[in-house]
Amino acid sequence: MKKVKIKNSNKEFTVGKILCVGKNYLAHAEEMGGELPKAPIIFMKPTSTLIYNGNTITHPAHSNEMHHEIELVLLIGKTINNASETEAEEAIVAYAVGLDMTLRDIQLQLKKKGHPWTLAKGFNDSAVVSEFVLKENYKITGNEEIQLYKNGKLQQSSTLGKMLFSSVDIVKFLSERMTLEPGDLIYTGTPEGVSKVERGDVLTSKITNIAEIENKII
Ligand code: ZN
Repeated sequence: MKKVKIKNSNKEFTVGKILCVGKNYLAHAEEMGGELPKAPIIFMKPTSTLIYNGNTITHPAHSNEMHHEIELVLLIGKTINNASETEAEEAIVAYAVGLDMTLRDIQLQLKKKGHPWTLAKGFNDSAVVSEFVLKENYKITGNEEIQLYKNGKLQQSSTLGKMLFSSVDIVKFLSERMTLEPGDLIYTGTPEGVSKVERGDVLTSKITNIAEIENKII
């Protein structure tokens, strides 16, 4: 069982499902091509793929194009179903910074065939997450910077306010389709600037007032 930690606390949550949103920043949707989503694009990662700050990310041998995607991650703290906006807001209990590592070459092959993205998104070490900051300790304003550095060079940079679907929109939408439970994680999409990583690269991922993590590709 995978767990996530709450910053400055002994509290831990056992991780339930890992849900992710695709194309949730305009400039990233444009760099990926295709239509802008009218509703959130949802996919999942197996919980066993989750790793933490300082852990290495093993580059799968069967891909030649692994990309970094930095994302805001939500922690669900309540069981909700068909949530109202208020219930959706209240169900989000904490925030973290995360990486949705993606095998872009595999994803493009799958997209062409109309197949699910599972194998492009759900490989070992593909979900990285920091410690969580409780919402009662920090409330997101939208002005926070979300930035990824590759080997010290700024590669992705935006602000959380640029998300197309807000955290509450995403949680409400999901709760209308599946029950969300305490310990579920939601990756909310990546801004522009995704790029290929090589073995030996070091990724530094940070969101203002939330967390900063470092992971090396091996
Ligand atoms: Zn992503």
